[in-house]
Amino acid sequence: MQTTMAGFLLLLLAINSIMIIKLSDMNRTDIIKHLRNMAFGVAGIIVPEMIILLTKNRQIAYYAFTFYYIAFAWYAMMIFRFSVSYSGYKLFKVYKSPLFWIVAIESAALIWGMFSESFFTITHYKWYDHIYWISRGFSILYAYAIVSGISLVGAVAVLIIAASQSARIFRLKYSGIAIILAVMAASCVASQIKHQPILVQVICFAFCEMVIVYMAVYYAPRKLNQRAMKFVADKLNDGIVLYDDEHQLQFVSTGYSDAVGLKGMQGIGNEETYWKKVISEANVGNAWNGRVMSVDRDDGTYYYEIQHMALDEDGKLIGTVYWIRNVTESIKNYGEMVRRANFDELTGIYNEAHFHEMARKLLEEHPDTDFVMTCSSVEKFRVFKELFGQEKYDDYLIRTAESLKTGLVHIPNCVYGRIGEADFYIMMPKESFDPQQLLDAIDEVAKSYSTNNFNLIVKAGVYEITEPLQDMLAICNKASMACDTIKGDYGTRIMWFDESIQKESMLRERYNAELSKAIEHGEIQIYLQPQVDNAGKVIGAEALARWVHREDGLIPPAHFIPFFEMNGRITELDICIWRQACEKLKEWKEKGRDDLHISVNISARDLYALDIYEHHVSLVKEYGIDARNLKLEITESAIINDLKQHVHLVEKLQAAGFEVEMDDFGSAYSSFNMLKDICVDVLKIDMKFLGDTENEARSHAILKSIVDLSGELNMKTIAEGVETEEQLEFLKGVGCDIYQGYYFSKPMSVADFEAKYL
Ligand code: C2E
Ligand code: CA
Ligand code: CA
Repeated sequence: MQTTMAGFLLLLLAINSIMIIKLSDMNRTDIIKHLRNMAFGVAGIIVPEMIILLTKNRQIAYYAFTFYYIAFAWYAMMIFRFSVSYSGYKLFKVYKSPLFWIVAIESAALIWGMFSESFFTITHYKWYDHIYWISRGFSILYAYAIVSGISLVGAVAVLIIAASQSARIFRLKYSGIAIILAVMAASCVASQIKHQPILVQVICFAFCEMVIVYMAVYYAPRKLNQRAMKFVADKLNDGIVLYDDEHQLQFVSTGYSDAVGLKGMQGIGNEETYWKKVISEANVGNAWNGRVMSVDRDDGTYYYEIQHMALDEDGKLIGTVYWIRNVTESIKNYGEMVRRANFDELTGIYNEAHFHEMARKLLEEHPDTDFVMTCSSVEKFRVFKELFGQEKYDDYLIRTAESLKTGLVHIPNCVYGRIGEADFYIMMPKESFDPQQLLDAIDEVAKSYSTNNFNLIVKAGVYEITEPLQDMLAICNKASMACDTIKGDYGTRIMWFDESIQKESMLRERYNAELSKAIEHGEIQIYLQPQVDNAGKVIGAEALARWVHREDGLIPPAHFIPFFEMNGRITELDICIWRQACEKLKEWKEKGRDDLHISVNISARDLYALDIYEHHVSLVKEYGIDARNLKLEITESAIINDLKQHVHLVEKLQAAGFEVEMDDFGSAYSSFNMLKDICVDVLKIDMKFLGDTENEARSHAILKSIVDLSGELNMKTIAEGVETEEQLEFLKGVGCDIYQGYYFSKPMSVADFEAKYL
């Protein structure tokens, strides 16, 4: 029996040793160190007991008992230290070293007493039919027992205090160990009182030690982990669902039903069936992990990202976690961000950057397809905006975008976008491109915005992309250049890009770069075209700009004026022309020829860029000339832009002594209608608007009624573009007042004019 028991103790010793090794491997916290020391203590108790069990020799047994008592004392001290450390009571640290010294002295005393047998004696004792060595202590041993007893009871007390003061989830952590210690203490007392062999006590100690280690190292922290996990999982608005290895539901966070909104939690009990359904509903295929699924709820579409994590330990599945995150907000924000970055706010179609990107992608994906780029642009969109207001203008843009969306939806490999203020670009395969269809589509929208006063005209430029590798901006520019060349050109609606357009465009760029210097160096000059009265007498001239370019020679205004009108630099040029006209008038005045006037052109752009009234009043003042001699030509279209404002301006100019002429009268608007609102001094009618030879009778009728009407409204008429004698005779016949045209003279340099007419 003794041998069997010794064998059993050996087994406990082996387990204890494994524990020591494991504990030594762990993170060396104070608690782990104490636990390991305790395990050493237990080994120190088991070994002497094994010897006691096996030996027949009384002397050896006695020595073994001595070491047993010593080990027990140290063990009890270690338990106390562990409890203090485990409970986190720093206060008890002060008792640590006195206790150490007491136990050390005790140990020394026991060793000294070992030879004289002064502390206890040992005898044979029969217990359950077997003979064991037991010890009987003398009264001096009680001092020893008290110290160990205090250690144990103190340890229990510390833990009970800790348990009573800590949060509920930590109570078991302390009280569990306190109970075990109490059991150990009780086993000591029992074995002393009942005079049993120490075997029971040793086995009890070894077991208790194991339980303490388990509680301290595994059980309590795991409990905490679980609680913390649940706490965190519930705090998150996400859904967290845990299944065990059998696919049975183990845990569902409270956020789950809220997050997923899928009819509460029914049905999620079995992992396999439930998630199969979710995944098939989400329609995300096999690669669904980490993907976003959408769920349509009454209050909108929600997006969830599902993470699926298999929990394994040493390669074996122990459970599965599904983590469902509600990412609706971020998806929507992201979508909004993408939309803003890529789409035009107003029309919802691609913006410039995204259009370029998508067009580039298309070219790269279809290297064997020929593509065309078209640009459609509203002519005089500022006038349109001015005339109808921002809202109507926006409305036009939106409707155009809508018509692109519906019109182009069936064309494969087609992209379109809005670029700049009023330009729409479309890129599509050449084979799908039908110019007429494009024009019809443009017209359909444009028509509904045209009124009696304004024709919304949209022009298109087309570039066949012959070099797909060039920059997308360059490709778009070519379409745009082609479009620009036909702006202001009444007949042409669509233009294909060719090299000459590119050249012209480059030329314009060059002129643009050179304008300031040209003005500074006197390259911008006035040419004068005489104006003749009914008696054939030259009464003045119109000042027309010419660029006397130092390399290119004489450049007619058609090559630069429309472009400067478009980019706004016309004002710079006009100011220079006005000054030259004033300079001349001043000279003529000094020569006694203040009967001659000069008419200057005021562009629509000038009306917005300058205070025309202030400017001209101070101009005539500066040159000391009579306002009457500087006549101001404003085109009909410029005036109608902002009729109210301009009526006021005209009245002010007239009050300051200027004569205002309405240039190109009859060219674009329902001119007669406007005359009821504005009272200019002169109507200037261009023959080219009426010089329709096929319909001469009609032209004549219109001319006649203009002249008649102007007479009734107290306005004079100038006919410009008079080329033939017949024209002149007719105009004279209907009562026109002044004439200008090649019939009399082409515009000529100032020197020529002066030589001829002064
Ligand atoms: P506009 O103001 O209507 O000027 C009359 C244009 O008709 C001038 O062309 C003139 O040379 C031309 N012309 C005159 N008589 C005849 C004729 O019998 N037959 C034909 N076919 N044409 C005739 P130009 O000088 O080329 O000017 C063209 C346009 O450029 C002008 O039209 C005006 O709108 C603009 N422009 C010219 N100079 C200036 C300027 O200094 N400032 C502004 N803002 N625009 C200017
Ligand atoms: Ca003019
Ligand atoms: Ca004119």
